[in-house]
Amino acid sequence: MSSAVERTDVAIIGAGPVGLFAIFECGMLKMRCHVVDALDMIGGQCSALYPEKPIYDIPAHPSIDAADLIERLGEQAAPFDPVFHLGQQVTALTPAEGGRWLVETSAGRRIDARAVIVAAGVGAFGPNRPPLDGLERYEGRSVHYLVRRRQDFAGKRVVIAGGGDSAVDWAISLAEVASRIMVVHRRPKFRAAPESVSRMDQLVRDGRIEMVVPYQLSGLEGRDGDLTGVRVATLEGEERVLEADVLLPFFGLSMNLGPIAEWGLGLDRSHIVVDPSTCATSAPGVFAVGDVATYPRKLKLILTGFAEAAQAAHAIHPLVHPDEVLHFEYSTTKGVPGA
Ligand code: FAD
Repeated sequence: MSSAVERTDVAIIGAGPVGLFAIFECGMLKMRCHVVDALDMIGGQCSALYPEKPIYDIPAHPSIDAADLIERLGEQAAPFDPVFHLGQQVTALTPAEGGRWLVETSAGRRIDARAVIVAAGVGAFGPNRPPLDGLERYEGRSVHYLVRRRQDFAGKRVVIAGGGDSAVDWAISLAEVASRIMVVHRRPKFRAAPESVSRMDQLVRDGRIEMVVPYQLSGLEGRDGDLTGVRVATLEGEERVLEADVLLPFFGLSMNLGPIAEWGLGLDRSHIVVDPSTCATSAPGVFAVGDVATYPRKLKLILTGFAEAAQAAHAIHPLVHPDEVLHFEYSTTKGVPGA
């Protein structure tokens, strides 16, 4: 599947806090951005790993929850109309004509940009997928790694696999709408908040949730992407088939620098080496900021990434606007569109 090529000034790989602030910094220098992220939401680690945790070292915010920080960064970027391509990984970055770059995504999107900012953090986030034969035929249809709308599972027979907070919380929540909830875990002990485990245990006693322990997923049964059953097995190999319409595997997120490692950029232990004064990488026109970028004494902090985004945007300006002389101006002087 491939689509027409979209042209932009800057392609940003990663919509974590630093990628989001890079939109603002580029926008202030009149550069349009397309932003790609493997996650189907903005915010990177802040959204995926600790949305409700307060952060204490964001300047001028004595305390701000990670999710609120992301919401505000989204608001700050909005006047510059960034084009987001979420839920897709950048798989290839190749030189194009005129010193430009072609960014290709797993969803077949092709973006032709004058410059690229890699703000990929610790790599693309993705669900840990269970190693089951034919899994991809069911994914997105009857196997899901996240719950968007509880109501989608109303009246369904749901198998939830995993032993952490997501498995326990969704078992409790979906027990209110699903016709049957079965929780598959390889041991009796769950690694979730104790009060949630107590609530789940009560629902088990009430007959609203069935425990399938100690079992692991071993196979899927069904046709054309529609599940009819989930096979589970003990470590001793004793098998059972659970009649089911839906499987929700909650085995956490994995992070993987993935294809970025193959783009020929200078690397130092899974990080992209940059010149800190410009955030330029070893490839002309490709810049890296935030957790993925490294240089001597680099501090992996959000505030460091914000400053790097500003450095990169100023270094990119002459590439996008070669005929304009960039006069440094404060935001107080030039203002922000619509503000
Ligand atoms: P990330 O937030 O990692 O975002 C990178 C994004 O790029 C991800 O969404 C990923 O999916 C995407 N991506 C990667 N590769 C690809 C690809 N090939 N295609 C498409 N998308 C891709 N920092 C602080 O400053 N203060 C704190 O108090 C603090 N507390 C923390 C607490 C926890 C529990 C954790 C885990 C981290 C904490 N951090 C804190 C660190 C902070 O979250 C990171 O420094 C910050 O998220 C880095 O931002 P980023 O935008 O560079 O990368």
